[in-house]
Amino acid sequence: MKPPRPDDELVFLPLGGSNEIGMNFNLYGFGPPDRRKWIVVDLGVTFGDQSTPGVEVIMPDPTFIEEYADDILGIVLTHAHEDHIGAVGWLWPRLKAPCYATPFTAFLLREKLRDAGILDDVPLTEVPLSGRITLGPFELELITLTHSIPEPNGVAIRTPLGVILHTGDWKIDPDPLLGAVTDQEAIRSLGDEGVLAMICDSTNVFVDGYAGSEADVRVALNALIGSLQGKVAVACFASNVARMDTAIRAAEACGRRVCLVGRSMHRMAAAAKSVGLFQGVKPFVPDTEARHYDDNEILYLCTGSQGEPRAALARIADGTHPHVRLGAGDHCIFSSRVIPGNDIPIRNLQNALSDRGVRLYTDRDHPGIHVSGHPCREELKEMYQWARPRIAVPTHGERRHLQEHVALARDLQIPEQVAPRNGDMVRLAPGPAVIIDEVKSGRLFLDGGVLTPENSEPLRERRHAAANGMLIVAVAVDGKGRIVCDITVRAVGLPGDDDYTLAEALHDLSKDAEIAVKRLGNEARDDDHEISQAVGRALKRSAQRIWDRRPVVETVVLRV
Ligand SMILES: [Zn+2]
Ligand SMILES: [Zn+2]
Repeated sequence: MKPPRPDDELVFLPLGGSNEIGMNFNLYGFGPPDRRKWIVVDLGVTFGDQSTPGVEVIMPDPTFIEEYADDILGIVLTHAHEDHIGAVGWLWPRLKAPCYATPFTAFLLREKLRDAGILDDVPLTEVPLSGRITLGPFELELITLTHSIPEPNGVAIRTPLGVILHTGDWKIDPDPLLGAVTDQEAIRSLGDEGVLAMICDSTNVFVDGYAGSEADVRVALNALIGSLQGKVAVACFASNVARMDTAIRAAEACGRRVCLVGRSMHRMAAAAKSVGLFQGVKPFVPDTEARHYDDNEILYLCTGSQGEPRAALARIADGTHPHVRLGAGDHCIFSSRVIPGNDIPIRNLQNALSDRGVRLYTDRDHPGIHVSGHPCREELKEMYQWARPRIAVPTHGERRHLQEHVALARDLQIPEQVAPRNGDMVRLAPGPAVIIDEVKSGRLFLDGGVLTPENSEPLRERRHAAANGMLIVAVAVDGKGRIVCDITVRAVGLPGDDDYTLAEALHDLSKDAEIAVKRLGNEARDDDHEISQAVGRALKRSAQRIWDRRPVVETVVLRV
């Protein structure tokens, strides 16, 4: 490797995933400040919630790096979770760099690129596990870790100014069931070589001990499923292929056939088979045929453990699934955790299942039927002992996780710690780690198929209308702006009652609008915009009086 020039710098720049759990988008830059070459590690999405009505998918704003797109040498995807690869289909056309992934991740990425219509445009190189990639001044080596999806990779990034260990998502599982164990030797020898900085998963930094092994989940699920009579549904993340495998083997051990319910279950099963997993498993029963099986002979493996409204389990719970019915005497096992923010939809889902007479099993009342895929404190300590970095850079966490991770690293005598926010450019070398710049970062919303800036006007208006209702006003005027017939006012989402009916309210609003138009001078009445502004102001005041609310007012001016 070439020695560094005096003006070379090595920087880390998160544009997503720092100060949040989701939409990971990490950049490493090398070279003089005006001629940096970049690599990207992961390009994921996050999901909307009640505060973003109609927006399900959110991704990082790539504006900063888009300007240097020609200097991006490659995009490396550590694993196939949505928060790591979900944005490639949307944002690749703005970055246009070659992509690198291991086979399982590449299989799922290709599907995304096909959906986005850019499969033939994106150069995607499949890298074997533990493979190496050279991208200009960056020499990359993949390191096999364990997590909750096949083929999780850490990335050792060797540069002329030092070695970085980017862990990606990981845990230490001595018996992950699928895939190899965490490659402790590779990390230790990297530690011997000398690690400048470790950019590390912070998700479970508040949890003591170890995350636990997938093998223990297998024992617990085997025992539970084996003890049940009636139909059994198991809800888990489809991407947790080891968990799927466990449920499948447990089902077969007690004479049940498996029916996959939900699109992503089928997608993940195909991806798993593409890399040789699910060997010797009996063919899955199509959901159209599952009802021909006796209740004790079937197990449904379902999507929707987070209460997602259109997923399989939600449709089963509200009785609208075309083929799958659960009721009294049946069982639903949640082999998953509650992702923060999903508490309410999950509770609603569980209440709906319960209402049908379905018995529920969660990791709260049945500890052992789920384990996390992220490192708890003892695992983090081991990782620091193996890698021995000079600088700890926590990522994959909210502010509280990152700060606690900094404190942990300090307790472990790691000499330097820095916890950047999205957009903070950290110089890792030369010299001590320091934030040297703040660049544009933010979120893009996928709103009705269109990528929009965060909190764009349409979304703000939709949120406002959802909370306050809407008035639609039609004003017909002649060429001189004189009203030619009664102004029509319609209400969306606004109530009336016996004392003051909605019809009466709308009649009064119509009169208020009329007064507002008549008060305008001749010149203003020539201008449609002036008319609609005046009507809008007047009706907002009236609505405040009537409903104590400020609805959205949409005025249409017709010249007749
Ligand atoms: Zn992640
Ligand atoms: Zn992950």
